[in-house]
Amino acid sequence: MQDYLKHKQAILLDMNSTFLFGEDRFGAEQDYSLIYHQLGGTLPSSKVNQLITACFDYLAERYSNYQQRFPSVPETLQLLASELAETEIQLLTNTFAQHERGYLSADYARALRQLQTEFRLSVVTDIWSPKQAWLTYFEEQNILHLFEAISFSSDHGHVKPSTYGFEQVLYAMQLQPHEGLFIGDSAHRDLGGAKSVGMDCILVGVAQSEQALDHFPDLLAFCDAALS
Ligand SMILES: [Mg+2]
Repeated sequence: MQDYLKHKQAILLDMNSTFLFGEDRFGAEQDYSLIYHQLGGTLPSSKVNQLITACFDYLAERYSNYQQRFPSVPETLQLLASELAETEIQLLTNTFAQHERGYLSADYARALRQLQTEFRLSVVTDIWSPKQAWLTYFEEQNILHLFEAISFSSDHGHVKPSTYGFEQVLYAMQLQPHEGLFIGDSAHRDLGGAKSVGMDCILVGVAQSEQALDHFPDLLAFCDAALS
């Protein structure tokens, strides 16, 4: 185990491209109506694809501005199609969430379970859809219980590198920043936010920063090093 881990009792994790992958399946090649119709929706495919695309574009344009509250998917859909009933907004929101949610592979599930034997774990993540799709998936994958606290940005509208989610999780865990370590794949959002609350950060993937405590190709490599 690395020396710098000896004084850390908790690991706070980013989610997308840190332990879930294949997220954000949006773009011109996507047919959102497939999931929407599976969920029981009756709007024509062209309307569904146009609305989800417009919703994604609206949010993508605003995602770089973390100083303002980030709008939610349902409120954006409402804004774009005020004629739609609440049940339709809900179906479209669920469709959006299914395209946004990434996947957990068996090796990452194992790594999380192993890390949790040595460290308290939590998550600080930016998602655009309501959190239910992820909570359900975490339950199905049997990893929800591994996390003492999770900050989903769509609960409060503050996206990283805003310090809000970091502070929320530190408070929930009754943890001082120096007792925790953040692991994420974005120098701007993950390291930026962690540093702003006084917490060390390790970067995984291709991101590089002189301010990072360490770099690893991925969370699996970190896990191997930390638990050896
Ligand atoms: Mg990420």
